[in-house]
Amino acid sequence: MIGVLALQGAFLEHQRMLKKCGVESVQIRKPDEMENIDGLIIPGGESTTITKLLIEYGLDKAILEKTAQGMPVFGTCAGLIVMAKNVANNNQISLGLMDINVQRNGFGRQVDSFEVDLPVDVLGAIPFPAVFIRAPFVESVKPNVGILAEYDKKIVMIRQGNFLGAAFHPELTDDLRVHLYFRQMVEDAKSAT
Ligand code: GLN
Repeated sequence: MIGVLALQGAFLEHQRMLKKCGVESVQIRKPDEMENIDGLIIPGGESTTITKLLIEYGLDKAILEKTAQGMPVFGTCAGLIVMAKNVANNNQISLGLMDINVQRNGFGRQVDSFEVDLPVDVLGAIPFPAVFIRAPFVESVKPNVGILAEYDKKIVMIRQGNFLGAAFHPELTDDLRVHLYFRQMVEDAKSAT
């Protein structure tokens, strides 16, 4: 069972993808709804709003408790910002799960949204149709963070242990590979405990 944080943003689209992957999902709005989940997706949306609501509902503590026990988390776009230890030019509090420095709206205002065929080695030879919407990019990472994809010399997908982050929106395509990759991370974490 994978939980999808449903405070704001594109959570329904992630649930649709998980269903196509044969994975049951549940919407998370309260800490007690997290009890039975094996993984969590933090969707895109507005990172300031998501962060504010996370704290208001006490979900930040609940998430940190579960991740300390090894629960995998996948953040897309705003979700990636929420997972970062550092957000450049912004002192907003986030979960601080990943040793990365993120630049909000990093691709600039003039290109609000675009799609590219993005090579991602861990997904195989066929590039991934990556949809970027007012996307952040990862400015720098600590050595313990793996870089899975770059676009225009900017880091746009990373993995650090049980944490996965993408600056783009795989839930807005029909390509299941990123969600299948996360499903595997969740399976691996489950069999490790
Ligand atoms: N620009 C948004 C933010 O900073 C993220 C956009 C998105 O999730 N599509 O939160």
